[in-house]
Amino acid sequence: MVRTERIAPQLVRVHLGGDAFAGFVDEADAVKLSQTDKYVKFLFAKPGSGLEPPYDLDALRETLGRDELPVRRTYTVRSVDHDARTIAVDFVVHGDEGLAGPWAAKAQPGDRVALSGPGGGYAPADGDVTYLYVADDSAIPALAAALEALPHDARGIALIEVADTQSEVGLAAPAGVQMVWLHRDGAAAAGGTAPYGALLVDAVRRLERPAGAVDVFAHGEREAIKRIGAILNEEWGIPRQEMSLSAYWADGRSEDAFQSEKRTPIGQIFTD
Ligand SMILES: Cc1cc2nc3c(=O)[nH]c(=O)nc-3n(C[C@H](O)[C@H](O)[C@H](O)COP(=O)(O)OP(=O)(O)OC[C@H]3O[C@@H](n4cnc5c(N)ncnc54)[C@H](O)[C@@H]3O)c2cc1C
Repeated sequence: MVRTERIAPQLVRVHLGGDAFAGFVDEADAVKLSQTDKYVKFLFAKPGSGLEPPYDLDALRETLGRDELPVRRTYTVRSVDHDARTIAVDFVVHGDEGLAGPWAAKAQPGDRVALSGPGGGYAPADGDVTYLYVADDSAIPALAAALEALPHDARGIALIEVADTQSEVGLAAPAGVQMVWLHRDGAAAAGGTAPYGALLVDAVRRLERPAGAVDVFAHGEREAIKRIGAILNEEWGIPRQEMSLSAYWADGRSEDAFQSEKRTPIGQIFTD
């Protein structure tokens, strides 16, 4: 880890570099990744375990119990700086729970991390389309990369949910893409905090379907993405397979539990 910067109260940008940079770029070139939402899988060991990256998982499995092994956490590559030979990853710092968020909050230059990838799932559609982008804090890096890849005359709307005004970050978007920031704090009926993703669901429900083709990117908390997918499929008539709907995390679940649930009905975006 080369350096960190706090780009918003709950968003820490970590710049990663070192000898592994060339390997990462080669890997990205090898898979010819054209998607804008490039993601990598970090491996984090539990604090106090004494384990240091790189981790040989096969060897560790022979000596350690399942609960003691390093765990995977998925993050978007916000950008690649070929001159500085670094990649930037924006981590939501969501309190003391978990491994990745707390690691990013305390990361120091020289800290070592293990990661693999990248993979990817979405690239902006070409042609005469209206872009509908929906993201919570965790999907701001993927949203930012998609917005930067849009043609200058693109039209559409981006709905972005964050905690509050201070949590908004600068995003470069074509003039024809309306940027709508939604704030969880103070938004609940009692003046409290809205559940993650609830404002995005409401905002999508209030939108009028644009005429013509709509290119959908909706990434974020699982329940919200399910509900948004249902609105866009059932009410707007957009075929499921034409939308980029991606659950990035699930409120109350660690990523381990969230990934396991992908094999069960609760983990599916569409359950039927
Ligand atoms: C393809 C993909 C790309 C992603 N890109 C990014 C990215 O660029 N930046 C990013 O920050 N996240 C990103 N995520 C989400 C990230 O992988 C999860 O948030 C992950 O659970 C964080 O790990 P952790 O160790 O901090 O917390 P975990 O140990 O996984 O969870 C601990 C607790 O924290 C809660 N929690 C987890 N994430 C959040 C959150 N964002 N807000 C509030 N509570 C949370 C969990 O529900 C759980 O209760 C991405 C996920 C996917 C699948």
